[in-house]
Amino acid sequence: MNIITGQSTGKVSICRLPVGSDLLEGINLVAAKAGFKTATVQFIGAVRKAVVQAYDERVGEYISTHLEGPLEILSGSGNISLKDGEPFAHIHVVLGDLAGKCFGGHLAAGAEVFIAEVILTEIAADSPLERKQDDQTGLAVWP
Ligand code: ZN
Repeated sequence: MNIITGQSTGKVSICRLPVGSDLLEGINLVAAKAGFKTATVQFIGAVRKAVVQAYDERVGEYISTHLEGPLEILSGSGNISLKDGEPFAHIHVVLGDLAGKCFGGHLAAGAEVFIAEVILTEIAADSPLERKQDDQTGLAVWP
């Protein structure tokens, strides 16, 4: 187990993503523009549609579920770390339909924003957190 300890939280970036934009792409863009290499991510809002995934370790692939909205973003959270030298958002969401029925998973590209209020909090670590391909999980994970 590799533990990276930050000295403190750093800068905070707050942003409402544009209507019609891609949620995951938008979060990555905010992180890149802020220059964050390691950060926590929180957001709420609503999307017109979304793609969420679950990783099936038995077959080594993500299983995608396509959801049509309107859907509330009841909870959005995740992190920013580096992958291939660039800020990379790993995001999970819980989405609710108009009746409050919930869906959730690993956020994939394809979620169209209606409203997304995003807060990124930088972690001022001694060294940036970088994802590397891992043979045991088959995923790009933290060391
Ligand atoms: Zn995930």
